Amino acid sequence: MDVMQIAVVGAGVVGLSTALCISNVVPRSSVTVISDKFTPHTTSDVAAGMLIPHTYADISVHKQKQWFRETFDHLFAIANSSEAGDAGVHLVSGWQIFRNLPTEEIPFWADVVLGFRKMTESELKKFPQHVFGQAFTTLKCESPSYLPWLEKKVKANGGLMRTRRIEDLWELHSSYDIVINCSGLGSRELTGDSKMLPVRGQVLKVQAPWVKHFIRDGNGLTYIYPGSSNVTLGGTRQKGDWNLSPDPEISRDILSRCCALESSLHGAYNIKEAVGLRPSRPGVRLQKELLVQDDRRLPVVHHYGHGSGGFSVHWGTALEATKLVSELAHTLRTSDPKTKL
Ligand SMILES: Cc1cc2nc3c(=O)[nH]c(=O)nc-3n(C[C@H](O)[C@H](O)[C@H](O)COP(=O)(O)OP(=O)(O)OC[C@H]3O[C@@H](n4cnc5c(N)ncnc54)[C@H](O)[C@@H]3O)c2cc1C
Repeated sequence: MDVMQIAVVGAGVVGLSTALCISNVVPRSSVTVISDKFTPHTTSDVAAGMLIPHTYADISVHKQKQWFRETFDHLFAIANSSEAGDAGVHLVSGWQIFRNLPTEEIPFWADVVLGFRKMTESELKKFPQHVFGQAFTTLKCESPSYLPWLEKKVKANGGLMRTRRIEDLWELHSSYDIVINCSGLGSRELTGDSKMLPVRGQVLKVQAPWVKHFIRDGNGLTYIYPGSSNVTLGGTRQKGDWNLSPDPEISRDILSRCCALESSLHGAYNIKEAVGLRPSRPGVRLQKELLVQDDRRLPVVHHYGHGSGGFSVHWGTALEATKLVSELAHTLRTSDPKTKL
């Protein structure tokens, strides 16, 4: 086998970053991203792209912290490079505030973000309904820039993009040696994974260029995330809801909740609604699987289920998925061609 043909299914932040990581790391490989939707039509395009970890119930804190740190360090280097503007990755400072004292005053990721500290009494005066707060600087990926930038990087490494819906991973058997499944919510049908469920998120993208700090209510439901071209106001977390149409009543509620935290948002203009379905699961699925049908074998790496935190951990999980791909590639190259794997 001269050049290993690798298919990555899915072109959200997970698929594109995995394709980039593989094309950087796995020698003598050709990567093709196959997806029914590309940016700006994926769930990843709706996200605010803030690096604030979501907690996965089924994954150890140690592992979650490792993924977050790897992602933060990688993006921090991009934010400090001349590519920052093109990639849409930049630093942003602000506050996470609580109406009651949180069980954990110092979260596991406190020493990964920059300058984490408890808010002072004078800072808390801005939020009279809240009793406690955390101030820190983190990173934000602007999806409208970051996803096209990832695509550009994959293509620069020789990667290909193909628009196609996959009904069954076996469709890829005749053309590819290894398949990476980064299909997000699509994995529910593609792999029959009933643990995969949508968690609907509705947000507003508004113009309010005077808002410079992020504000996140500790329950994660209400947030104000300023970006380079707009401010994202959120949000909702509706489990099992597949509806992609914005609900005007919810939009009014989001605006009113955000105005209660940042009164100047009463002057926000050019308000646009967006909805995304978070590909949720108790834990990210990062796993090798050998599909077998008669005498045919198809090595697959599953890499999906990032829920509310795909941007926060994507590079760390892409590194881990790439390690699994490298192991499979090594086995394919060294095993007896008759028994392959
Ligand atoms: C409102 C909202 C706000 C968010 N804010 C943040 C945030 O601030 N920070 C953060 O870390 N996370 C955030 N998230 C979560 C984040 O968006 C997700 O975790 C992340 O986008 C998941 O990426 P993904 O690539 O797995 O999925 P997706 O972006 O959904 O990509 C899946 C890809 O697979 C393709 N696909 C699916 N099925 C098939 C098939 N059968 N054949 C071919 N292609 C297929 C799709 O077309 C798509 O290209 C937010 C999410 C929402 C909805």
